[in-house]
Amino acid sequence: MRIAIAAETGADESRVAATPETVKKLIGLGASVAVAPGAGIGSGIPDAEYEAAGATIGADGVSGADVVLKVRRPAAAELAGIKPGAIVIAIMDPYGHEAELGELARAGVSAFAMELMPRITRAQVMDVLSSQANLAGYRAVIDAAAEFGRALPMMMTAAGTVPAAKLFVMGAGVAGLQAIATGRRLGAIVTATDVRPAAKEQVASLGAKFVAVEDEEFKQAETAAGYAKPMSAEYQAKQAALVAEHIRKQDIVVTTALIPGRPAPRLISAAMVASMRPGSVIVDLAVERGGNVEGAVPGETVTTPEGVKIVGHLNVAGRIAASASGLYARNLLAFLETLIDKKDKVLKPNWDDELVKATLLTRDGAVVHPNFQPKS
Ligand code: NAD
Repeated sequence: MRIAIAAETGADESRVAATPETVKKLIGLGASVAVAPGAGIGSGIPDAEYEAAGATIGADGVSGADVVLKVRRPAAAELAGIKPGAIVIAIMDPYGHEAELGELARAGVSAFAMELMPRITRAQVMDVLSSQANLAGYRAVIDAAAEFGRALPMMMTAAGTVPAAKLFVMGAGVAGLQAIATGRRLGAIVTATDVRPAAKEQVASLGAKFVAVEDEEFKQAETAAGYAKPMSAEYQAKQAALVAEHIRKQDIVVTTALIPGRPAPRLISAAMVASMRPGSVIVDLAVERGGNVEGAVPGETVTTPEGVKIVGHLNVAGRIAASASGLYARNLLAFLETLIDKKDKVLKPNWDDELVKATLLTRDGAVVHPNFQPKS
């Protein structure tokens, strides 16, 4: 069982799919592990640490590998170096990338998309959406604090008192809850909103105040899977009125609102941005999915004519790469363990396992995932 840890080729990607800790465990499962030279540098892991964990370092490790571990979907040039029949596990970003799925199929690899892992108890340890969103929520507040020209905590000094900053978090899922916790740790006065009633108690348990339109529609806004439903135009208008009133008194806003399979809901209009005080900061974590904030630009920090900064960093988890890689590598290890026969120390995927069925995109030259079949 040969496992390769590929180097990421994307310019914005500093994460890596294994750490010395997970390499050691993979070897314990009977694998030999090859790591591409420099694969861990962006996450602060030198080749020597992988070697000390038992890996070999070599650019050609991928070509003979039975399993290739990556952060991002391999590009066509990388696929050419992977043998047909190999298992490739990564964050595949399959929606809207049907052509790239075709490439994976033609390469003959069994490609698994970690972000399609079901959010069931058994798979919690493999949940890359949660592990990465949690860190992104933390980093969003750190980025906001760095852009903000004032302190977050209240400070009583001999020269007078510095007031605490007011932080408003929109969307209290995994990222939002960590943004709330981080803002509280830094001493900000935190409020938060969501359309799911379950979020109310979670927000309160972190010591923040919940602000939302709590009508009949709100009481029904959570799907059986725990996600938000798209809200009616009427609800959105009520929500916008509430947000407009609240936001102009805030110093920092972090938005994280997403609806599965749809563009991110637009929660903050240009007029709301303009109502904030100069020097205020908005971080839009949903910018890659269309953005919650009017005027947010993917990959850029924009300063409006009124002096409000809108931060639209891409791959925010990648901005805290060492921690993100550590958790991602453990997510991958946990999933890979389910594909290995531990007694005989060989790869033996159970193609009928619900985790395999939910995440397997391509196999034996075809796109096999039900969500990506050509429409007849
Ligand atoms: P997400 O990334 O899909 O969305 C982020 C948040 O935005 C959600 O809380 C959502 O309700 C909110 N949102 C959507 N539309 C909004 C709007 N118009 N206004 C305000 N907020 C809006 O969500 P997520 O972070 O992946 O979490 C979704 C749910 O899944 C949560 O209930 C979470 O606790 C749950 N979860 C379960 C597991 C598990 O069981 N293994 C793991 C992770 C998360």
